Amino acid sequence: MKKTSEDVLPAEGGLGDHPLLAVDDLHVEFRTRAGIVRAVNGVSYTVGPGETLAVLGESGSGKSVTAQAIMGILDMPPAVIPQGQIRFKGTDLLKLSEEARSQVRGQRVAMVFQDALSALNPVFTVGWQISEMFRVHRGMSKRDALKKAVELMDRVRIPAARQRVNDYPHQFSGGMRQRIMIAMSIALDPEVLIADEPTTALDVTVQAQIMELLADLQRESRMGLILITHDLGVVADVADKIAVMYGGRIVENAPVHDIYKSPAHPYTKGLLESIPRVDQKGQDLYAIKGLPPNLLDLPTGCAFHPRCPYRQDNCVTDVPPLHRVSGVRGSACHYWREVLDGEPQ
Ligand code: SF4
Repeated sequence: MKKTSEDVLPAEGGLGDHPLLAVDDLHVEFRTRAGIVRAVNGVSYTVGPGETLAVLGESGSGKSVTAQAIMGILDMPPAVIPQGQIRFKGTDLLKLSEEARSQVRGQRVAMVFQDALSALNPVFTVGWQISEMFRVHRGMSKRDALKKAVELMDRVRIPAARQRVNDYPHQFSGGMRQRIMIAMSIALDPEVLIADEPTTALDVTVQAQIMELLADLQRESRMGLILITHDLGVVADVADKIAVMYGGRIVENAPVHDIYKSPAHPYTKGLLESIPRVDQKGQDLYAIKGLPPNLLDLPTGCAFHPRCPYRQDNCVTDVPPLHRVSGVRGSACHYWREVLDGEPQ
């Protein structure tokens, strides 16, 4: 049968003029009985080889739904993608046939999920689960695949990998289980890795170790890494750039150092002020007032206006575009200059 252009996979190797991965004006809705949930409302971002993009926001901000759309794992319906593109090396993944898409998913673009315990199968050994990737996708024999599984466990620094390859998931700590998930996600040498809250369930020391591991793996392989998190504190040392999401939109995007030095959106500023600091011992932690928006009924104008200390009258009626602050830096705030300058009037 003649192949249609929708069956043509993105080329291996060089990128030409294309970014590695580009999400462009993506919209995702969920058609529910209660109404249309507008989860993603015009999100655009790119990630290049060896680059780390941190996507930051509270739960319900649309960051994980965008990632699931990239992976092609949304339940459709109820999810609908009415608009937008997800281009991997120039090919729009949304136009691929399901067969072609499944060859990208997990092999060229892979994902680490937040809950390792429920993502791993409790009745199979970790070695069996890692080696399955090689048996199914690379056609390896059981013996060779298990050997590769041990190599990968070594690579993600699981001590005594050879002895532990036949252990079950419950015999590992939370941090070690997350390493196993990372091993499975990088087994097929993906070009893009999406890590969705990979350290949420872990204590602070283990969080730092997992972040360091992801950064090391990325350096070795030059993967593009999309790191999804609600915690600005964990990405400072690993991200190159940050996209902050609120109400399904990107409200600020900037190189990581700009964001930490001087946020240009009141929401980003609130997130930064909520990070606990050792020099503020004994003081109450700052919290952004109010609740995240209801995606069934987003506030008019700027979705952040009910919680914003910088709000002016036009914020209630006019949706702020993503203003260029400088270079590649953008802020979806009418008053970004005042935010950069300091406290609200
Ligand atoms: Fe606040 Fe207005 Fe800026 Fe929205 S547009 S973040 S409400 S100042």
